[in-house]
Amino acid sequence: MTEYPCINSHPRWTIMLLQLAALLIVGTTVTVLAKETEDVFTPAAPETVRISGRLGEKFDLCITNRLLAQDVESVVAPYRAKTEIGGADWRCEYWGKWFTSLTLADAYHSTPATREKRDEAAKALMVTAAPDGYLGTRVPGHRLEGWDVWGCKYALLGLMADYDRTHDATVLNAARRQTDVLIAELGPGKTSIADVGEWNGLPASSVLEPVVLLYERTGEKKYLDFAEHIVACWSVPSKHLPAGMRLVEDALAGKNPDQMCSPKSYEMMSCFEGLCELYRATGKREYLDASVKLADGIFREEATLVGVGTRGEVWFGGAKQQTSLVDKPMETCVTVTWMKFCDQLLRLTGDVRYADELEKNLYNGLLGAMMPDGQWWAYFDGLMGVRVPSYVQHADVGLSCCVVNGPRGLMLTPFWAFMQSADGPVVNLYAAGSAQVGTVKLEITGDYPVSDQVAIRVTPASTEEFTLSLRIPTWSERTELKLNGKVLPVTPGYTKIHRTWRKGDRVAITFDMRAKMVECNGQVALQRGPVVLSLDNRLTPAAASQITLDRNPELKPNPAAAKKIGAWMAFDVGALTFCDYASAGNAFSEQNIFRTWLPQPLDTANVYETGQTWRTLSHAPTWTNPPKSQPRVENPKHDLALAANGASASSDSEYAHEPGCTGKVIDGVLATPKDFANRWHSSLDQPHPHWVEVHLAKPANISTVVIHFADPDGYPVSFEGTVRVNGQERQVINVTDNHEAQVYRAKIEPVTTDSFRLTIRASANPAYPNAAQISEIELYP
Ligand SMILES: [Zn+2]
Repeated sequence: MTEYPCINSHPRWTIMLLQLAALLIVGTTVTVLAKETEDVFTPAAPETVRISGRLGEKFDLCITNRLLAQDVESVVAPYRAKTEIGGADWRCEYWGKWFTSLTLADAYHSTPATREKRDEAAKALMVTAAPDGYLGTRVPGHRLEGWDVWGCKYALLGLMADYDRTHDATVLNAARRQTDVLIAELGPGKTSIADVGEWNGLPASSVLEPVVLLYERTGEKKYLDFAEHIVACWSVPSKHLPAGMRLVEDALAGKNPDQMCSPKSYEMMSCFEGLCELYRATGKREYLDASVKLADGIFREEATLVGVGTRGEVWFGGAKQQTSLVDKPMETCVTVTWMKFCDQLLRLTGDVRYADELEKNLYNGLLGAMMPDGQWWAYFDGLMGVRVPSYVQHADVGLSCCVVNGPRGLMLTPFWAFMQSADGPVVNLYAAGSAQVGTVKLEITGDYPVSDQVAIRVTPASTEEFTLSLRIPTWSERTELKLNGKVLPVTPGYTKIHRTWRKGDRVAITFDMRAKMVECNGQVALQRGPVVLSLDNRLTPAAASQITLDRNPELKPNPAAAKKIGAWMAFDVGALTFCDYASAGNAFSEQNIFRTWLPQPLDTANVYETGQTWRTLSHAPTWTNPPKSQPRVENPKHDLALAANGASASSDSEYAHEPGCTGKVIDGVLATPKDFANRWHSSLDQPHPHWVEVHLAKPANISTVVIHFADPDGYPVSFEGTVRVNGQERQVINVTDNHEAQVYRAKIEPVTTDSFRLTIRASANPAYPNAAQISEIELYP
């Protein structure tokens, strides 16, 4: 029997938590009608969490360039067409993976753009339902084949996520109807879910999670019964497995993950995510114990330096294999699901090792798989060789599983960075940021993990007694902790500071970020705090020399090297320059090779010779390059003229063939020379002048204006920019002889305004004398 930290109930906090739960029913959480257990940790309200610094920038890139850039039609079309048949297709998963990522982003930082996209996508999916309520992509008569039930899971998870944001009863009803279809097909006395689909029933069985979520949200017992029936199907003989799937029994027996009923990593963990939820709903301890035992096996057999090891998407004893070149290593979907599973177990047990693991995966394996602009992700992500953008699995959809799943792992961060326990707030992540945890505001400053020092300002609503729990990462062997300048003892795991807190109390922590050398199979690797270091051939070119690393290597920061390749951090160790693993290889080209595990002594002439190419890493019979990245505004976070930041736009007229094009000037997407899809174009029937105006979310200071033109033949030659101040128009730009065809930039006298109007008096193309066109307007403080 495993022991877990018990909930040390503190009456005052309990009352506050209850009040908070009641309050948040109209906020981001939902009334859970059916639950038998209390989580040890619950997330801080995500809308109060802000993460800044490099990590915050990665969130913004992911939201702008991937989640908001996704067009809804291509992920919904397969649901409308319903043409999938047989075992090989899984277009059914894209909508739900992308949509749940978007919903996490919307919970963290809700903007008009995230809300509109979410509403549009939820409605577009629901209208594709078959008359019986089925939300899937299959030809009638071929349901339950292949990945069908797996896909239904993603539709259901998406609907549940939307319901949790909107509390819209029609969304919950759509989920009910889809689940009723599944019960009719797979309920007691019908086909066993263990006999359905691929990989010995694992993918289909993972529908358990949304079925339990539906029970928790409706309180309807038939959904709990169906969930328990799914789990019961695992314990009886199935078509392919005479002993049955035995997920709970084999996990409890401590079987290695690759010895379970099927080694398919992602799908197996998805089943246990559902089992965790079923524990939450029923309180049946064996479900939690089995989940913890499976996680034990993953830690023991599959965890690598940067994440979890898989080969070709299946467990293969990655912990021991991590020093060798793996042909298809570490699927990003597996990393994400492992992080989600760890998040479940962190909430249920409060065990710090899951938080340590989330941090390790976030800063290494996960960020390493995201392309620098956030638009695309890697499918396979090894510890040496080249990084390769994921191939496109279905050309009609233009996506692959990992491209829409990576963002789920990233956008999960705000939900575990700050949490609350029964006796007070919990800090798991020390990236600069802030959160409101119950009645306590926490603000973290510092440049963690580049810097070893962080400061936390604690601001309770009023002077108050509670416990602040601070995660002390396992890697930090010598941690110094001060409260208001006074040194406090540090305990491994969570250091708990119980006292009466006052506004302005300040905690300062210095972590142990000395370089640590780790060894495996006679090779060594360097870690610094939560970040693994790698060699990159752009910083340390191959050269004929033999180097043996010191056992206690000294790291000399090399910011110039980091800047050179856009790395987060770089360090010199003797003649070698290392950078953080996630930045190593981030050119995503076959010429940019990196290596993490290093033989000793290191022959630097051969260090990058892996023989690996994009071809050997491809999972597809033919290689498809990812879509070219569409250019976007320079700084989506600070561009006041962005729809995502609450701006709107109007114009004097629109070209008859491009209705609605006015909104293109604030959508963040720039037109390339032959791109006529990303512009505002005026009517051709009216002469100049034409105007387009940006209305800001609220009055703001503007000192920089950037105007991107569209068709290079028809750029504006004469134009003015005006703002409104106290109801009066004021000219801030006046250009009468422009010859620049692409972009105009200007610093203006800083002005506070709520609008910017661009009036075009003449354009360059004599063939269309009445035409005015603009791709994008950017406004910055
Ligand atoms: Zn994947």
